[in-house]
Amino acid sequence: MAARVIVVGGGLAGLTAALDLHDAGHEVTVLEARPRLGGLTASFRRGELEVDTGQHVFLRCCTAYLALLERLGVRGDVVLQDRLDIPVWREGRVTHLRRDQAPVPLHLARGLLRYLGTGALRAAPAALALGRLDDRSPAVDVETFGGWLARHGQSDRAVEQLWSLLTVATINRPVADASLALAAKVVRTGLLETPGGADLGWSGVPLGRLHGEAFARVLPDVRTGTKVSGIAALAAGFEVRTATATLEADAVVLAVPPSVAAELVPSALDVTALTQLGSSPIVNVHVHYDRQVLDQPFLATPASPLQWVFDRTVPSGATSGQYLAASLSAADDWLPRKAADILEQLLPELARVLPAAAGATVLDAFVTREPHATFRQVAGSAALRPPARTAIPGLALAGAWTDTGWPATMEGAVRSGHTAAAVLDVAPSLAVAS
Ligand SMILES: Cc1cc2nc3c(=O)[nH]c(=O)nc-3n(C[C@H](O)[C@H](O)[C@H](O)COP(=O)(O)OP(=O)(O)OC[C@H]3O[C@@H](n4cnc5c(N)ncnc54)[C@H](O)[C@@H]3O)c2cc1C
Repeated sequence: MAARVIVVGGGLAGLTAALDLHDAGHEVTVLEARPRLGGLTASFRRGELEVDTGQHVFLRCCTAYLALLERLGVRGDVVLQDRLDIPVWREGRVTHLRRDQAPVPLHLARGLLRYLGTGALRAAPAALALGRLDDRSPAVDVETFGGWLARHGQSDRAVEQLWSLLTVATINRPVADASLALAAKVVRTGLLETPGGADLGWSGVPLGRLHGEAFARVLPDVRTGTKVSGIAALAAGFEVRTATATLEADAVVLAVPPSVAAELVPSALDVTALTQLGSSPIVNVHVHYDRQVLDQPFLATPASPLQWVFDRTVPSGATSGQYLAASLSAADDWLPRKAADILEQLLPELARVLPAAAGATVLDAFVTREPHATFRQVAGSAALRPPARTAIPGLALAGAWTDTGWPATMEGAVRSGHTAAAVLDVAPSLAVAS
């Protein structure tokens, strides 16, 4: 029998749960505080550019995310590399970290040797040891990735040029305090389980169009600009309050950031862990040049504060020149600084890394900040991530911060949405394999 379900939060997690429940025949209403869907994967217009608030990439191992894009009919709007190939800028030269067609784990052996030289002889066994760790074990959860790397003889150079490259953007923390469990998950699932697991993908259109607009086409009852201020559990069902109405539902999926969830859940639930999760920022620096300055779709720059630079010209709709976005993860130090101050430091840095930028005219340059881009994915954080099922029947949690086993990514958000829909008990089992 169809149930009335309210999904609070129109990010990838809530929207995925809503779609599963809608597909299962339930009457679903999505309540989203902002004027648009998509949550942290959002776009806005600035002059002729359609700008993503933050550059997003995914990997071929993000199977739930790719399946969602298929379901939404937008799989053709993303680019996925045939074979992992990361152009890396180091000391004025670009080298490529590539996989080849050998079976895992040998598919990276040659690429790693070329990239790290003899350093690969220590890095490869460390990668295999990481892959053997049980990332669900509490003993692994309490250790930092940096501490583990030091114990496994990784040099400063290997930490900067390999391990930080692989994990700072995926975990959004410096290796020094990053969660070892999540680093192990990234290395195992991306590099060791399936050939091509770490092949990189990105959107060829603005994220707001890829996600938010696509969901709006398939979900019949979406109410944006509708902030939920309270949820009460009744003897049967729930009351969900907004500024203008009180809605009734048989079941609720709460898919908001953890700090908001802690305020909204009915008082019977213990929210201590949610308030302890914390968050980590990501800052993006956007520069529109009058000409092409980067001749690759993206460039990794582990030896520069730029971290990763992406060509966003085509997705943004720019009609001239080249528009680049530099994505600064674990950006605690950048977050409080003025935009002018950030640009003063990073525009010369772009010209150092991309010599053609030195002679180019900057048409526009600006900074976007997401103070709560991810939860704080440090040692000990796994113990704080709640499961989708709560102690209140009919109330489920969703969000990239819930206990998915994945880092706070689009893949994690989508998986959490599937799981929340499955545990609500109003839907047939829709959970994805972890
Ligand atoms: C700059 C940046 C770069 C990133 N890069 C990557 C990347 O490269 N690859 C990757 O996989 N992931 C990346 N991520 C992470 C990814 O975007 C998130 O993990 C994912 O989008 C989270 O989805 P979510 O649905 O869990 O949460 P959210 O997107 O935060 O959705 C929660 C929703 O709840 C709404 N809400 C809040 N309060 C209320 C309320 N009271 N009532 C109603 N609605 C409410 C919010 O407005 C929001 O829409 C990045 C994130 C950022 C910010």
